[in-house]
Amino acid sequence: MPALPLIQHPPWYQLPTHFPNAHLRSAVVIGAGLAGCAVARHLAERHWRVEVLEHRSQIAGGASGNPAGIFKPQVTSEDSHVTHYYKYSYQYFIDYLEKLLEGECSFEHDFCPLLGIDGNPSQTARFIAESNTPTSLKTGWLAPAEFCRAQINHPNIHVRTDIAIASLQDDEDGWRCLDAHGAVLCETPVLIVATGSASIQFQQTRELPLQPLAGQITLLDAEAIQPAVTDIHCDRHFIIPQADGSYVCGATHHRTPSLRVNDADHRANLDACRKLLPRHTIDANKILGGRTSTRCVSPDHLPIAGAVPDFAYYEHAYDSLHHGRPAKSFPPARYLPGLYVISALGAHGISLSPFLGHLLSDIILNSLNDEKAAITELLHPARFHIRRLRRKPADRSAH
Ligand SMILES: Cc1cc2nc3c(=O)[nH]c(=O)nc-3n(C[C@H](O)[C@H](O)[C@H](O)COP(=O)(O)OP(=O)(O)OC[C@H]3O[C@@H](n4cnc5c(N)ncnc54)[C@H](O)[C@@H]3O)c2cc1C
Repeated sequence: MPALPLIQHPPWYQLPTHFPNAHLRSAVVIGAGLAGCAVARHLAERHWRVEVLEHRSQIAGGASGNPAGIFKPQVTSEDSHVTHYYKYSYQYFIDYLEKLLEGECSFEHDFCPLLGIDGNPSQTARFIAESNTPTSLKTGWLAPAEFCRAQINHPNIHVRTDIAIASLQDDEDGWRCLDAHGAVLCETPVLIVATGSASIQFQQTRELPLQPLAGQITLLDAEAIQPAVTDIHCDRHFIIPQADGSYVCGATHHRTPSLRVNDADHRANLDACRKLLPRHTIDANKILGGRTSTRCVSPDHLPIAGAVPDFAYYEHAYDSLHHGRPAKSFPPARYLPGLYVISALGAHGISLSPFLGHLLSDIILNSLNDEKAAITELLHPARFHIRRLRRKPADRSAH
């Protein structure tokens, strides 16, 4: 792993120091998508008993339910903590994937040479030049729902489907998950909200500035692309050939909370395919169907992962941040004990989720090393509040 510069947390990013009933080694995860399954797996491997609650009748029925998705490295233009985080996280993902595949897990996947990084040749060249391990150059595709299933296939993980959590309540022993009628569905000392774009549905997490980003994929018949292609093609869009010869193409982006499968998005996906394969013909009459779902992003496009802050306390304790007083004059951060969140995986949930699951399990077990502790600031659930509080009150309308 590349070394990250070490940092000292200012009080508002200090990590939780109170770990209620952690000795019970028991947690509940709400949401069985890529995020929820990754954190469940990491806790289970550390000998915790984990219950995953999913409101659909099967796991990975939300954004994580597409038949295929791409994984590829992300970079930023400058050398920053964000770039370090992306590299660290991506190498972790490749190692994790290979470890799962060496074990008992199986899911459809394929590796291929570096595909390009968001279509930017100079950033791709720089990434290759700076990569110090061959693993960081691997890209490819996998079936997200199968990947989820492989991760939760662990003796310490129990999954309950058709369970919709409507609200959360806490007391000194931990958290209760309630249904829409107020009936208690489960009690747990440690609760993790991993409900994707729906992560703001609970009163405790409502303050998170999540933005929905709906999208559609298009499924094409084996005859649709002539001549046929057998390799992945991608820039911001993708064409993924499947074992039966058909193709998964995508994806569109809309700033709406939900979307129905529609012809306009099929056309947009086919136009993107034609740009990716300018010498091929693509037959719009060979569309097999489509699928829509909703990703979610944060305002800075980084994921959100960590202990859920006591947002009311933040507003009060750090209200005078804009005066520029020394950090040490402020009180330490406060969290809702035992409550955690992992969300805003954007369009890269496949490659981001394993490291986020690993990081969150380290936060929960209080076992972060300095390198990972530095990353917690980038992903801190209260970072948007802090950025807003740094501004004068008159300029604070939005995150
Ligand atoms: C069209 C499209 C194409 C994409 N392509 C790619 C790609 O090629 N590569 C890539 O890496 N990423 C891709 N992504 C992004 C990726 O799918 C997401 O980043 C990822 O799925 C997010 O995972 P999640 O677990 O946070 O959310 P989700 O998968 O949405 O999981 C949240 C789960 O929580 C459950 N839930 C919600 N509320 C409750 C409740 N109250 N009680 C119980 N359960 C609840 C939901 O049913 C759902 O199963 C794509 C996304 C879209 C929409």
